[in-house]
Amino acid sequence: MATCSVCCDLGGGDPCALCAAPNRDDKTVLVVEQPQDILAFERSGEYRGRYHVLHGAISPLDGVGADQLKVRELLERLRNGVVTEVILATDPDVEGDATALYLGRLLAAIDGVRTTRLAHGISVGTEIEYADAMSLARALENRRDF
Ligand SMILES: [Zn+2]
Repeated sequence: MATCSVCCDLGGGDPCALCAAPNRDDKTVLVVEQPQDILAFERSGEYRGRYHVLHGAISPLDGVGADQLKVRELLERLRNGVVTEVILATDPDVEGDATALYLGRLLAAIDGVRTTRLAHGISVGTEIEYADAMSLARALENRRDF
């Protein structure tokens, strides 16, 4: 399956339809763990920016470190100075929080980029891909500086 070289989404071509869409906001990038999470946000209809797929979350117990995630690709995207906000939408569980913390530290070093994290409108332990559209929309709207 083709991986989008921009957002790292799978199977949607390169670039994928969401990255190629001209009517989306280039200034905002929403970071998710899995490709399915994008579908959940698209269902909510509240988000008009771009996406980035990490393909996992930091999990020492499973032997997954940051170097196995698409972190380098994310930082690369921020280099052109177009993106002004990165929304961390990793799952509200231990791995998701660890990943958000790690990314938050990295992103704090980049000038002109605001980092936000989804509000806990979705219940702890719920995976983003199964969250209902209304909860996701609310979590997005109430996102906070990280
Ligand atoms: Zn893409």
